[in-house]
Order: sequence, then structure tokens, then C-alpha cells
Amino acid sequence: MTTTDADYGSRYAASVMNTFGPPKLVLVRGEGAHVWDVDGREYVDLLGGIAVNALGHGHPALVEAVTTQLGTLGHISNFFTSRPQVELAERLLELLGGQPGDGKVFFTNSGTEANEAAFKLTRRTGRTEIVVAEGSFHGRTMGSLALTSKEAYRTPFEPLPGDVTFVPYGDADALAAAVTDRTAAVLLEPIQGEAGVVVPPEGYLAAARAVADEHGALLWLDEVQSGMGRTGRWFAHDPAVRPDIVTVAKGLGGGFPIGACIGLGDAGTLLEPGNHGTTFGGNPVACAAALAVIRTIEEEGLLEHATVLGQKLRDGLAADPRVAEVRGEGLFVGLDLVADVSAEVAAAALRAGFIVNNATPRRIRLAPPLVLSQDDASAFLAAWPGILDEAMPDASGEQA
Ligand SMILES: *Cc1c(COP(=O)(O)O)cnc(C)c1O
Repeated sequence: MTTTDADYGSRYAASVMNTFGPPKLVLVRGEGAHVWDVDGREYVDLLGGIAVNALGHGHPALVEAVTTQLGTLGHISNFFTSRPQVELAERLLELLGGQPGDGKVFFTNSGTEANEAAFKLTRRTGRTEIVVAEGSFHGRTMGSLALTSKEAYRTPFEPLPGDVTFVPYGDADALAAAVTDRTAAVLLEPIQGEAGVVVPPEGYLAAARAVADEHGALLWLDEVQSGMGRTGRWFAHDPAVRPDIVTVAKGLGGGFPIGACIGLGDAGTLLEPGNHGTTFGGNPVACAAALAVIRTIEEEGLLEHATVLGQKLRDGLAADPRVAEVRGEGLFVGLDLVADVSAEVAAAALRAGFIVNNATPRRIRLAPPLVLSQDDASAFLAAWPGILDEAMPDASGEQA
């Protein structure tokens, strides 16, 4: 660290709560899939603010939408509505294959808030039990935390809201055994993000839909990380599987904070006047940002681009024998290393000028901007063996 960098590092330590550990960099500027630190060093951002910066950094369409909206009408209370709010609700329902009237949206400012809204919505069924998956991540507020499996996150904050049953992810039989006539909802990520991009077996979500139907329970899919084009499709779940609730956030605003709890069919009317609220949720600027993200993904053909480039990344990463497995869809990429060295790999990547995430001790996650270029992807693949050499000097494929 240079003087300037260290200076902000120590000022951060002195003034910002230590919930995230020390920041790895002090960043000052971004453009496309590139960011620059306070010392002028350039990085290729292969994490995209954790699946948030769908259009990369500083995309003109997003900047234009946000600044124009802020200069026109920035905030109103939820006693009123605005054009961007109504238009975004309609667009989200359309992307989910629904029609206005066949579903309704509640807007929030984050993923955990989208899940809190959904959690409250499920209580309106008159049932309280939620069945969720091991390895799940649904957020850090008390309700979402109750639905999140990681013990280290949960234990310091118990007691959490109860009546939550955890089942192994991807095991349709375990799910069928856990769901009963007391179950309000089955909650699943179509692809688990924080767990390191874990893809369930084919047919798992369809089986979840069937078991939920059998018991009159809601099927709630958390697409906060996997949704909004990340997988090369608007949503990670198969459109043939129709959920009752879909929660989105991260990529939705392309970096502007916004989330949404989408209730399809009858689930859209379970929350009634007085049941829930928010001051900022659904504000015109955030909704204008999300509309710009959706429009730009369409205009620039970014779903197709994510599909093609994601496959190139997966193929290239898998070619190294120190990679045990590569998973994911589109630009949602997870890999298992042959040893627990993901922190060393992420650190070596950063030194080489690439931002990646060590999701678990053995797993690396990539969720780059959907605008990532072929050249950036090629540069990372070219650097990859050297990054692994540096991170695991004595490892080779044979030792796996
Ligand atoms: C990140 C995430 C959340 C929480 O979103 P925040 O905006 O951080 O509150 C919830 N669910 C999933 C699947 C996520 O990846």
C-alpha cells in the first residue's frame, strides 16, 4: 500500500464500523468493466460489485436516466406514484411472463428488504412455516437472516424468527419430506450465489413447484443475485416453472439501490393496505435506473453476450488441472479449486489486476458486468495459470 492508500485505510478503520474487515482497495473511478484505485492502478472488475453493476461502471444510459430523473422528480412519498414506478412494475411482470393484473410488485431498496417483504407476505397465508435450503443466503436483516443457513451469521443474533426448516439444496426427496400442509412457502435460490454459484440438478425447481402445489404452499424464488440477465436469461429459473414470489435486487438498478418483491397470481394481493411500507422503496430515480438497465440489456444484446462470454470463461478456467469443477450459467461463474486456497487466489488475482471473489475457502465466484469485453475475458484467462502458480506454488493437478 502506498501512502495515500494506507491513509484512507487507516481513516476507514478509525471511522467506519468493522463489519466487512479491512477494505482491499480504495477505489476512485470506474468505466465499463474497469476500475481504478487511489494510486491510479487499473483493475478488471470480474465481480461487478457482487453481481450488481450489470452495465459496468459509468454507463451513459444509466447516468443519463438517473440524472434526468433526479432533475425532474427525485423523491415523493408512497402517498403518490410516478411514471417510472408504474412502468417498472409492468416491465418486471412482463419479463416474468405475467401481465399487469396477473401479479403485483412491492419495491424496496435492497435484496434483504425484498425478502423481508416476501417473508411478511407469506405470513398472510395464515401459515408460518418456511422450508429453505442449506447453503442459502437471503440477507442480513433479522427476517432474512432467519432464512439464511450460515451458522456464523445466525448464532450471534438468536433468537431469530422461527418455524424455519432447512433441507439439503438440490435434493428433491428431502424437500418433499419436509413440506407439509403447515408450510407457508418453499424458498430457494435457483442458483445459490453466496455458496459459490451452486447449480441444482435438472428438474429440482419443477419438483419444488409440484411439492408446494401438493400442500398448498407458495413457491418463492430468490433471484436477488441470479436474476436480471446474470445467467444470460432474465431469470435463472426455467420459465416453465411458475413461482408465486420472485425477489430481485442486486443487478436490477445496475448500481443504483433498488429491490423488488414480485407476487405472481394470487400472491400479488396477499399484502393489503397497512401491512407493509417503505419510505424510499419505489422512488422515481431508482425506478428510472432499473428501466434504463432493462432497456440497455435489450438494446445491447447483453443476454446473448453473457451466454457466449460466460461459456468462454468457464471453458478457459476449467482447462487448468488445479480447477476441480466449474459451474454456472451466463456471466454467473463459480469454480472449485483442488485445495482451500481461494483467499490466496483472490489476492494473487488482485495483484495481477483482476477482481474476483473467494466465496468459500475452496470456491471462486465471478459475476462480472454483462458488458465485459472479449478482450478482458481473454486477458483474465491468459493470466489465470500464473495466478494459480502464485497462489499455490506446490500444487499440481495430480495432488487433487
Ligand atoms: C445479496 C443477496 C441478498 C441480500 O441482498 P442485499 O441487497 O445485500 O440486502 C439476498 N438474497 C440473495 C440470493 C443474495 O445474493
